[in-house]
Amino acid sequence: MKRLFSFFIPGGILFCAALIMVGPDALHSLVPSVVRVAQPVILASAIFIGWRFNRSSLVFSVIILALCDRVLLTWVQGFPLSAGPPRIAYQAVALLLPLNLMMLNLMQERGFLTFRGIARMTVIALQPLIILFFARSHPDALMSRLTHPVLPFSLPEGVPLSQPALLAFCLALLVTVVRYVQHQGAKESGFFWVLVTLLLALGAGFPATDRVFFFAAAGLILLVSLIEASHSMAFKDELTGLPARRALKEELLKLGNRYTLAMLDIDHFKKFNDRYGHDVGDQVLRMVAGKLAGVSGGGRAFRYGGEEFTVIFPGKYADQAHQHLEDLRREVESSRFVIRSRMRPRRKPKRIRSGGRPRKEVSVTVSIGVACRDEKNARPQSVLKAADKALYRAKKQGRNRLCA
Ligand code: GH3
Ligand code: MG
Ligand code: MG
Repeated sequence: MKRLFSFFIPGGILFCAALIMVGPDALHSLVPSVVRVAQPVILASAIFIGWRFNRSSLVFSVIILALCDRVLLTWVQGFPLSAGPPRIAYQAVALLLPLNLMMLNLMQERGFLTFRGIARMTVIALQPLIILFFARSHPDALMSRLTHPVLPFSLPEGVPLSQPALLAFCLALLVTVVRYVQHQGAKESGFFWVLVTLLLALGAGFPATDRVFFFAAAGLILLVSLIEASHSMAFKDELTGLPARRALKEELLKLGNRYTLAMLDIDHFKKFNDRYGHDVGDQVLRMVAGKLAGVSGGGRAFRYGGEEFTVIFPGKYADQAHQHLEDLRREVESSRFVIRSRMRPRRKPKRIRSGGRPRKEVSVTVSIGVACRDEKNARPQSVLKAADKALYRAKKQGRNRLCA
């Protein structure tokens, strides 16, 4: 449910809002004035924020959107598309726009005035020039390339998109969904909804005002997704995916009069790192965080820092939280983690030698300190301190245990 929710927020909501706006007549009449006011504000804000946050993918995407919007406004007056420049402009935009957005979504952030940043700007700037060149020198050849049938069926009457453009949209949507499944970030879901919005804007053959409105909505989705991604970057721990210390601080302020806090620390983790290396240490941290994220009893886990975690049980006394924490401790203790052997060759050998090294399984344990809010410890910070003291006792008593 949570994943589905974050997939729809904010892109899906904005897409639906745009659909609602162009639907009923009363709202539809507002579209031209909304576009006139909102479009320049959205584009300028997106470029400014993208530049301040050093997000070249946002800035380049918005510039491409604005460029395509301008091209369509200049050359495409209405439907059906007339032959010559209107048809070339429409099909070139519909083919190149999804492919460019797909590439920008896939590429890592490399800044603006770096070698790669400038190279990307050059590629973006070259595309309209190349299209313009061929549109002048070989218009028929260009048109037949842009509309070359690639599917075994023809598209319904009234769909102005050419088959290559539709295929480009499908490819971009597929790649974006795969990317979202891998990363689950606001940027990835944002790009998905941008593509859906643009596919609708170009595929349904909307009149110019509605199309411009959808382009503005796509810019807004990009902008809000960037803000959402930056928010989660600040509040979510990158390595483990758990909410980070900053989120914990805010959550502590929201607690009522009854709650229990637990501090959890991995045992002998320094030795573990020394023995297996920092990368394996990181993977084990992720594994432990995964167990913590699934803690029962309404507990919410945070990465406090390093190999220390905090679990909050709102509305619970310490003895009500004990069993859930004890289950968690046992689950970590019994989990086995398979590590790659240090002798593992970088390349797959041509022949597998018999008697190879067995896979090495490792495990870790955790110590947990628990404290409940009471008269002595009335403030979250003192409860946290008490939990930390209890954790220290758990370590002293031999680790892999829970102390209150
Ligand atoms: P104890 O049982 O007393 O907790 O022993 P310990 O070795 O776990 O305790 P200590 O706090 O001295 O060591 C914590 C170690 O955790 C030090 C550091 O190498 C490791 N560590 C902290 N953050 C990370 C991280 O993000 N990744 C990895 N791989 N190791 C980390
Ligand atoms: Mg520690
Ligand atoms: Mg430790």
